[in-house]
Amino acid sequence: MTRTVYLNGDYMPETEAKVSIFDRGFLMADGVYEVTSVLDGKLIDFAGHVKRLERSLSELDMKKPACFDDLLAVHRELVARNNLVEGLIYLQITRGSDGDRDFAFPDPETTEPTVVLFTQSKPGLAHSTQSKTGVKIISIEDIRWGRRDIKTVQLLYPSMGKMMAKKAGCDDAWLVEDGYVTEGTSNNAYIIKGGRIITRQLSNDILHGITRAAVLRFAREAQMEVEERSFTIEEAQGAEEAFTTSASGFVMPVVEVDGVALGDGTPGPVARRLREIYLEESLKAAI
Ligand code: PMP
Repeated sequence: MTRTVYLNGDYMPETEAKVSIFDRGFLMADGVYEVTSVLDGKLIDFAGHVKRLERSLSELDMKKPACFDDLLAVHRELVARNNLVEGLIYLQITRGSDGDRDFAFPDPETTEPTVVLFTQSKPGLAHSTQSKTGVKIISIEDIRWGRRDIKTVQLLYPSMGKMMAKKAGCDDAWLVEDGYVTEGTSNNAYIIKGGRIITRQLSNDILHGITRAAVLRFAREAQMEVEERSFTIEEAQGAEEAFTTSASGFVMPVVEVDGVALGDGTPGPVARRLREIYLEESLKAAI
């Protein structure tokens, strides 16, 4: 099926959407993005994604091309035009193109950002097989840049990390810097010890996950204890459970870390419960 996508103010078939070869997103990964999940045709955690998008743009001195209401309208229109029931909406904003290649930023007064949105249909996203079996993780060194709190399209190393995991017969990789886990290739990382939920504290070292914020809020509301601190791979291997969070995976149980099975090697009760709570509560608040 040909999708209807959005490019710079217009809706069009995906085959007709064209961006300049001089676009700085293409030449320099000079762009930011967001991924919002859609369940029952509704947007999950939309306000959080827009807030983080605005922060990413501002940290990179990029113009904000649209307000909250306009972005919401475009997301909803794409859901409607593509009959999207369960899946994702990808949004990318780049610094655009001034018709040449130059390291210096083009003048924002004369160069418009490029705005692209498209849908990805993922039937069964909320009840994926992976969420039932759990995922296997390898650890790799975190050699990404130092502003991981900005959600840029520089995703080569995370892609390489996923390929390294695949080659090792696993599903994903956790990144390790100075001996401590930062986050997953495309998710935030957690372990459970003594019933406590442990996840790395926020800083420039990790992306401030929208799902992370919601899950920690729900966990605290359910009287679960949360500890925001760094942990090592060895500590994860000795943990009762582990999991990751992201807009596309929600709460994803981790059952193996660098070849060591956690607990009985199946998704643990805390991860399963948090997934249930997250799906239930965020669906209630979906718009
Ligand atoms: N960390 C990284 C590096 C990511 O790419 C993502 C997903 N984009 C996350 C964490 C999770 O963020 P969110 O919950 O907002 O999807």
